[in-house]
Amino acid sequence: MPTMGAFHDGHLSLMRTARSECDVVLVSLFVNPTQFGPDEDYHRYPRDESEDASLASDIAIDFLFAPSNEEMYPPGFACVIDPGPAGQGLCGAHRPGHFTGVATVVARLLGIVAPDVTYFGLKDFQQVAVVRRVVADLAIPVEIRALSTVREPDGLAMSSRNRLLEPEARERAAALFAGLRGAVERYAEGERSPARLTAVVRSIVGEAGLDLEYVDVRDAETLGSYTPERSAVLAIAARVDGTRLIDNVVLVPSGNVVPGRVSRPWAGGTA
Ligand code: AMP
Repeated sequence: MPTMGAFHDGHLSLMRTARSECDVVLVSLFVNPTQFGPDEDYHRYPRDESEDASLASDIAIDFLFAPSNEEMYPPGFACVIDPGPAGQGLCGAHRPGHFTGVATVVARLLGIVAPDVTYFGLKDFQQVAVVRRVVADLAIPVEIRALSTVREPDGLAMSSRNRLLEPEARERAAALFAGLRGAVERYAEGERSPARLTAVVRSIVGEAGLDLEYVDVRDAETLGSYTPERSAVLAIAARVDGTRLIDNVVLVPSGNVVPGRVSRPWAGGTA
């Protein structure tokens, strides 16, 4: 299970599932510099390796693999993986090179560890699409398990970056999921226009004063153009006081499923 550390319940839930499904569980902890742009938060990214080790050992994972930059990128390291269209829209359009960094580090981690199964969270929906592409195209013999988003009680998707938010910003950050939920409600009522669905999100996120980077509806499988007959992903990225957060929900024509276990009546339900 690849991670960048600063564990929260989203990570821990993936680890617990892996623990229950596998004989041996290895979690990697590596803040991968190549997936951050020059003006992004690589240096500010939360790091707490000893706390992470203690949380992981509570779940009785077998190995915490925390390589150095030099171990991951030794002298002479030269190959990079361009994952193609899967990495180009949505976050890829706003973070040039990000998914090349992700694809390359994940391929290298899978090469080092050679697991039977690898675990990812659907909070990073496009990352999962990219990893699926890499694994299929490079014929890496691994099964990908992609698990639902774990949320805070107010719906905010858990993220290591939530630690960077001051209390007031943290409160406003709940508007990301509130916006998605608003669109989910309209979708459940029969709305299928991407422009009108994203307008709902824009209005809720705008009212909370968040700085919207994008909100888009894409085909859930290909991340290409949306067609109303097929499942779609409604994805958002926004900055809250400079901290960039992402979230998404999957829209299913035959009944909407909001990914995520939360302690609220609308949690994980079918609308
Ligand atoms: P990260 O450390 O942010 O790179 O995340 C490591 C793994 O945990 C990735 O596969 C993420 O998609 C997953 N993850 C992060 N946050 C959540 C969450 N709130 N719910 C479920 N999975 C998550």
